[in-house]
Amino acid sequence: MAMKTREEYIDSLRKLNLTVYMFGERIENPVDHPIIIPSMNAVALTYELASHPDYENIMTVNSHLTGEKINLFNHIFQSTDNLVQKVKRQRMLGQKSACCFQRCVGQDALNAVYSTAYEVDQKYGTSYFENIKNYVLHVQKEDLVSDGAMTDPKGDRGLPPSKQADPDLYLRVVERREDGIVVNGCKAHQTGIVNSHEVLCMPTIAMKPEDKDYAISFAVPTDAPGVIIIMGRQSCDTRKLEGTEIDVGNSEYGGHEALIIFDHVFVPNDRIFLNGETEFAGMLVERFAGHHRPSYACKVGVGDVLIGASALAADYNGINKAAHIKDKLIEMTHLNETIYSSALACSYEGVATPSGAFLIDLMLANVCKQNVTKFPYEMGRHAQDIAGGIVVTQPSEKDFRNEEIGHYVEKYLKGVASVPTEHRMRIMRLIENMTLGSGAVGYLTESLHGAGSPQAQRIMIARLGNFEDKKEMAKHIAKIKS
Ligand SMILES: Cc1cc2nc3c(=O)[nH]c(=O)nc-3n(C[C@H](O)[C@H](O)[C@H](O)COP(=O)(O)OP(=O)(O)OC[C@H]3O[C@@H](n4cnc5c(N)ncnc54)[C@H](O)[C@@H]3O)c2cc1C
Ligand code: SF4
Repeated sequence: MAMKTREEYIDSLRKLNLTVYMFGERIENPVDHPIIIPSMNAVALTYELASHPDYENIMTVNSHLTGEKINLFNHIFQSTDNLVQKVKRQRMLGQKSACCFQRCVGQDALNAVYSTAYEVDQKYGTSYFENIKNYVLHVQKEDLVSDGAMTDPKGDRGLPPSKQADPDLYLRVVERREDGIVVNGCKAHQTGIVNSHEVLCMPTIAMKPEDKDYAISFAVPTDAPGVIIIMGRQSCDTRKLEGTEIDVGNSEYGGHEALIIFDHVFVPNDRIFLNGETEFAGMLVERFAGHHRPSYACKVGVGDVLIGASALAADYNGINKAAHIKDKLIEMTHLNETIYSSALACSYEGVATPSGAFLIDLMLANVCKQNVTKFPYEMGRHAQDIAGGIVVTQPSEKDFRNEEIGHYVEKYLKGVASVPTEHRMRIMRLIENMTLGSGAVGYLTESLHGAGSPQAQRIMIARLGNFEDKKEMAKHIAKIKS
């Protein structure tokens, strides 16, 4: 089957029979819900641009399984060129959407499971690699969104899965049958789940033999019996219900996250990719995180938009010639390009795994994500500094449009005389959206915690830092023998 158009993608979502709740109510038709539409638009963009003559080079690739042209989001990386293409795609899509476009978490999950399953089979003679290969083929042929779900609710962080007071706080097998398994539990913070056809689950931490029932990886359709989605709410989300455009800041695009509950969900044998081989849970986590950390090049594209918005705010406020403002824009650019450099570097340094799939350089990927946990916050600070306090105190669009008082807003929110007040209001709302509104969910907190909180990267950097070799180098130069 050919790749889906934007319209075919949206139609395919309509055919899903999802169980979704938001604000305490069942949402019968998520595709047309004003809070969900911007996030669907962001994923739809990944379909739209795949057939756009200017972007198909960056958005598509030939499948190593069929040789057919597919969306890069559904590809298993076969070279460093593929890894670099992904980073460039991430930046471009961030520039066009200024939000989390959701589809990459699934690509990184497919890649991590694919290479790990191969190595599990080598050790245990299981058939997980065949299973994941067939699953990848299905996702490629139907041009599906397969979401990646790793993060369990985790309960008491000081305890392993099998020692939790409630055994369901990590997703687990509750029944083993001839034809498959039954799973129970939940995955948290699930990006873009309502816009996805499939969900691919993985364990969230390295595990010991007693955690056997928790060392599972599998995929099910998002509308499988027993799957329940409870939407997370975002800062300023109900502004999308007000019927105005300016106050939303980014009215076209957005992201969403949700709790996804697995209430005794059946998984057939051919959809299982790990089932009790506890020593491979750590490899799967490390590879998923490794792939996902440079995917945060998406934030570089979003950062480009924030730099542009800050420069426009400076123009509209009449401060664009001030040396300290120029310097702040330079600093924002430096921070943003530093993230990009490390995302590219870990991709250029990628290597083949035994399955043939390529994996990024883990050290550089962790350095990249560590940068991402810090720099967008600093960039947001500069953006708010340049914009001024009106970024958080501006009256609403309805006041601006009001016949009695609108002229006051027009008059007193004016910056540079030649710039319409409405333009200044729009840019202030965009900066608000990205630094403390619903866009900040993706640009800031997701930068901090997504693909692992800062300490997770520091642990990897410590492990890969090779301090003993470095001591030897210093001893050699200092001529210290022994
Ligand atoms: C917007 C957003 C989107 C996301 N999308 C996805 C997604 O699509 N798929 C997915 O699988 N995940 C997703 N995540 C989840 C993300 O990977 C987690 O948020 C992250 O791993 C941190 O887990 P947590 O939120 O449970 O925080 P916690 O693990 O509770 O971390 C809070 C703090 O506690 C510390 N801590 C945690 N455990 C320990 C411990 N044992 N010892 C010492 N300190 C500890 C951490 O270092 C951190 O400082 C998303 C997160 C966000 C915010
Ligand atoms: S945060 Fe970035 S990498 Fe993660 S799913 Fe969203 S767009 Fe993709």
